Amino acid sequence: MQTTLTKPFKIEGIGLHSGKTFSVDVLPAPADTGIRFRRTDVRHCDFTRITPYNVSSTQLATTIDCGGLPISTIEHLAGSFYGVGVDNAFVEVSGPEVPILDGSAAPIVALILEAGVSRLDKPRRILKVTRPVSVGLDGKTVEIVPCDGFSINFELDYAHPVVGRQIFDYTFDESSFVSEIAFARTFGFKREVDALWSMGLAKGGSLETAVVIDDGGVLNPGGLKAPDEFVRHKILDMFGDLSLIGYRLMGRITAVKSGHQVNNIFARALLEASNSYEIIESPGKSPVSGAEEQRAIA
Ligand SMILES: [Zn+2]
Repeated sequence: MQTTLTKPFKIEGIGLHSGKTFSVDVLPAPADTGIRFRRTDVRHCDFTRITPYNVSSTQLATTIDCGGLPISTIEHLAGSFYGVGVDNAFVEVSGPEVPILDGSAAPIVALILEAGVSRLDKPRRILKVTRPVSVGLDGKTVEIVPCDGFSINFELDYAHPVVGRQIFDYTFDESSFVSEIAFARTFGFKREVDALWSMGLAKGGSLETAVVIDDGGVLNPGGLKAPDEFVRHKILDMFGDLSLIGYRLMGRITAVKSGHQVNNIFARALLEASNSYEIIESPGKSPVSGAEEQRAIA
């Protein structure tokens, strides 16, 4: 069945881009709401349901367009909802950024679990892949093939001694998401952070909000939370970006070097490949073909 939060919760912290403090109120929502965002610092901003087509920028983070206004860095919050199984929520943001917190989903997941997840009275809708769908751009690729369940095999390859080539094969379930993926922090290279700062960008980037690496190693005093924290974070980002599709997913993903941009291209391509999936509701109900579903949405 679909779910929502049992009670509201609040997130507070600085934004990655501006370094300013923002707050987010996350509220329970009825079945079939999906995840809807709105800005509370401007008048008359209605809730917008997030989809891959609302994504207006994938620079540094995923930014959505919400009634003509940007809300950035939504991916760790959106990925947390998918990861612990929250289908419906209203999200009110006090400005243009969701706080980056420690750069991972762990603080958000802890707040969701503390608020509680409640079942609603409507079945979940699952996008079941029936034929492969793939995209590629500049050597970055994402492919999904039919599979019972949902898994992501991610390969990251940076020509850097600390990161190098990392592969992580993650079979999704709502309990292992917390222990395997949620803790992995975003990361950046010191020289790139310096360059961003000199352009007045990533003002909220620091050792408190990201893993920062230079040629000698990890600069954070506590080091890494796992040797392959980098690739695990890439999988977290993928959860966030693909959660915008709006269905639970059934298929096996193989991704190589992908990031927010290619994740978004893939999310759109998958939705549009309506002959390559069907939508399943509760057991016993016959599946709806992707093409029929697309006509229903249109
Ligand atoms: Zn991220």
